[in-house]
Amino acid sequence: MRIVLLGPPGAGKGTQAQILSKDLNTPHISTGDMLREALKAATPLGLKAKKYMEKGALVPDKVVIALVSERLSKPDAMKGFILDGFPRTPEQAASLDQSLEKLCMPLDLVLYLKASLEVVIRRLSGRRVCSQCGKNYHLTNFKPTVDGICDNCGGKLFQRPDDKEETIENRLKVYERQTAPLIEYYKNKKSLYEVSGDKEAKLLNLDLMDLFKKKGLLSLRYERN
Ligand code: ADP
Repeated sequence: MRIVLLGPPGAGKGTQAQILSKDLNTPHISTGDMLREALKAATPLGLKAKKYMEKGALVPDKVVIALVSERLSKPDAMKGFILDGFPRTPEQAASLDQSLEKLCMPLDLVLYLKASLEVVIRRLSGRRVCSQCGKNYHLTNFKPTVDGICDNCGGKLFQRPDDKEETIENRLKVYERQTAPLIEYYKNKKSLYEVSGDKEAKLLNLDLMDLFKKKGLLSLRYERN
């Protein structure tokens, strides 16, 4: 299955992508995660991306397009992928179309997670992330058992620098200006499906599974499980 997740920051793209990736045994390709890893490892790519990410601005198209093209050419992506955070501009969408056409791998679905401003601001400002395994928590909605410590691996939780209030505002503006036009783009291509990003993650996941079944996208093996 080849899926793109579209929607504002905080709509739950990463959360749904993680669940779907496990359930469908399909790679989760998150440009945000890839860039954060590059930043942590202080690679030339990470150093280039740092100043944009800290401000909540987009990393230049050329850089991100090269990163995704390389990732999509890896063998595991041949059986499918869940793209999270890419494409984010019309240029990126056009480039993705071209690459997939060359590989004869059209997209099955673009899932638009529509979420209200109030919900995304609440989610982003309360989000805390494990510094070791990357698991997400929330100060009120999804607390760890011990304050500030990851249930999964015992790592310390921290606030992503771009989840600070001033930066959230900029990310939302950037989304409206540069990414929201892709909703129309994929609507015109008839591949867009809108779902509610305001819903609790497990409920939204059930909606998505229903949608996949209706579209005949789930393998028999999966449906029997
Ligand atoms: P969110 O969707 O919550 O804003 P991500 O983790 O997807 O966060 O991305 C974090 C940051 O990484 C973005 O604000 C941006 O600076 C950079 N980034 C991620 N994906 C892209 C992309 N496709 N194009 C340009 N920049 C990107």
